[in-house]
Amino acid sequence: MSTDKTQYGFTTTTLHSDRQKPIEHGSLHKPIHTSVTFGYNDARDLAAVFQGRQQGYRYGRQGNPTVSALEDKVTRMEDGIATICFATGMAAIASVVQALLREGDHVVSSAFLFGNTNSLWQTVAGQGIDVAFVDATDVAHVEAALTPATRIVFVETIANPRTQVADLARIGALCRARGIVYIVDNTMTSPYLFRPKAVGASLVVNALTKSIGGHGNALGGSLTDTGLYDWAQFPNIFDTYKKAAPAQWGMAQVRAKALRDFGGTLGPEAAHHLAVGSETMALRLDRECASALAVARMLEADPRVAAVHYPGLASHPQHAIAGELFRAFGSLFSFELADGIDCFDYLNRLKLGVSASNLGDTRTLVIPVAHTIFYEMGPERRASMGIAESLIRVSIGIEDTVDLVEDFRQALDEN
Ligand SMILES: *Cc1c(COP(=O)(O)O)cnc(C)c1O
Repeated sequence: MSTDKTQYGFTTTTLHSDRQKPIEHGSLHKPIHTSVTFGYNDARDLAAVFQGRQQGYRYGRQGNPTVSALEDKVTRMEDGIATICFATGMAAIASVVQALLREGDHVVSSAFLFGNTNSLWQTVAGQGIDVAFVDATDVAHVEAALTPATRIVFVETIANPRTQVADLARIGALCRARGIVYIVDNTMTSPYLFRPKAVGASLVVNALTKSIGGHGNALGGSLTDTGLYDWAQFPNIFDTYKKAAPAQWGMAQVRAKALRDFGGTLGPEAAHHLAVGSETMALRLDRECASALAVARMLEADPRVAAVHYPGLASHPQHAIAGELFRAFGSLFSFELADGIDCFDYLNRLKLGVSASNLGDTRTLVIPVAHTIFYEMGPERRASMGIAESLIRVSIGIEDTVDLVEDFRQALDEN
């Protein structure tokens, strides 16, 4: 049976992708290969693998068959040419810094970012890499920040947690014209709702921990090369990684410099959990996006709620562009309660929403942003990122929609 991705839908392709290669005993799931090393009967074959003249595994830090099967799945989901998986989403983002940037390089990043990515950019600023933070909802701000040393432009599709939508297509056109690597963190949309390749992304980041794994039981991250960037234009590729065609240079360097040298490797057990979870991603997201819209609409209509930030609402500043680009508006929104309603009291009145970090889980999760995940950066920086002190982030799960709407409504009643 052939599962050509042009022929089948998203879920069909994901489910059957392991069977593209023969699996022992007709096993339907790719087995969990726990071996750290891989032996060869002919020592010359081992040498050929080390020298890149022959395909094969050598040591688990650089690759493992269970992880490779997941990498193939993500490549298909993103319609890319290659994927490298990492232990976490942050390790995938850090790999870009480790493998592709050098002292004196410049990065333009959206100011509306996942808190830990923001923190990572602050870290590298102390290591000789200059990061400019811009309002990426308008390409003009990105363009104004470019310098001759700009190597990378980094944005999230829908920003976590305030849901600003980047000017994705125009930034893609700008990066292409200037020969700059365009990195899109697709975690909040997932490859089911959006493929960044469609707006010219060079590299796509996914925190597999979130919607792709979907069950909050394994961490993982991935970096996918869409094949659109010409690595021959990139000044930071070492000669050693220029042996194959230029299309492969970037990932060859990331696999060696970031995965091998820094060692943020995804384990085979986690890869198995993430691969199984990914089979139901489309089904989960259809339910979650519909529920997120229903709960967001209910909250927006209630006078006890001051603001709701969700790209699916007509009131969202980028509602139109999100509707054009994304299959649906995502499972995450954030909102602010009216003055006088304490956000902790509200969260404690929820019966289904669990106070916890993480998102893209099967269970609905809620968190007071300024007091937790964005606490360390302080009030000034929070304000510049559009984070109100009372902001509550909601990651909608797969519970029945009516139960969720009722839970978020009843918690507005103070008693
Ligand atoms: C969670 C998240 C990450 C990091 O993923 P981890 O697996 O938790 O390291 C990166 N980007 C976004 C947008 C996220 O939501």
